[in-house]
Amino acid sequence: MDRVLLVTGGSRGIGAEVARLAGAKGYKVCVNYARNKAAAQDVVKAIQDAGGDAMMAHADVAEEADVKAMFRLVDQEFGPVTALVNNAGIIDQSGKVADMTAERINRILSVNVTGSFLCAREATRRMSTEHDGQGGAIVNVSSAASRLGSPGEFIDYAASKGAMDTFTIGLAKELAMEGIRVNAVRPGLIDTEIHASAGDADRVERFRTAVPMQRVGSAREVAEAVLWLLSDAASYVTGSFIDVSGGR
Ligand code: NAP
Repeated sequence: MDRVLLVTGGSRGIGAEVARLAGAKGYKVCVNYARNKAAAQDVVKAIQDAGGDAMMAHADVAEEADVKAMFRLVDQEFGPVTALVNNAGIIDQSGKVADMTAERINRILSVNVTGSFLCAREATRRMSTEHDGQGGAIVNVSSAASRLGSPGEFIDYAASKGAMDTFTIGLAKELAMEGIRVNAVRPGLIDTEIHASAGDADRVERFRTAVPMQRVGSAREVAEAVLWLLSDAASYVTGSFIDVSGGR
């Protein structure tokens, strides 16, 4: 049976590394992106150049119509997904709750939480043995922020990751008898462009000393944990979390 993986936000950062590693391990990989088509093309090309199978699909995961169309495209090109990594996620400028607008909070929740629900729903409809599927695995990319709360920076983002943790626990139990495992990774301080998108490119270096291992993590280190959770080696693991955070 083909192993077909959809990685949301697969164009850059952690998602791109998950896509590349999965391609090398023999998954047919769909690289989702929102705006950065050229970056998604680069990831697809890297997988294909290494001898793997990859395609790309545009979708804003917060938009239901986009998500449905993306899953249909994967159906057509690779067949139904057997694995999903809910990785697409956003933060906003660092600030206090006192200064947050409803628009900002709603956008973060829509992408990080609603987007993950919508993608998991579409994946479940294809994977579940109750829907004549062959089973599968879902990994949610949460954050250490769900435990730490991110005071003074982005509590809205941290709370969205708290919601993803609860979503992981509930969905794992709901799908345990339908052949689908659901787990999450909680990355700590990882060297990607997300920090610059919070208007704080120096953040990684500033917080480095707060990490017990005194260093920043790489996207590859997160991807390794994701691929293990997706694999048959994790066959009795569901509703679990791997903190990839250097001890923080
Ligand atoms: P990143 O480098 O900023 O990449 C974000 C990815 O998400 C990009 O591929 C982007 O696509 C995509 N994306 C953004 N909004 C989207 C939307 N509405 N629909 C579909 N795709 C969308 O981020 P990252 O650091 O790799 O983060 C990946 C995940 O890890 C996120 O969920 C983040 O919360 C989590 N995380 C990161 C860290 C860290 O320190 N880096 C720590 C903990 C958790 P485009 O290229 O098209 O913009």
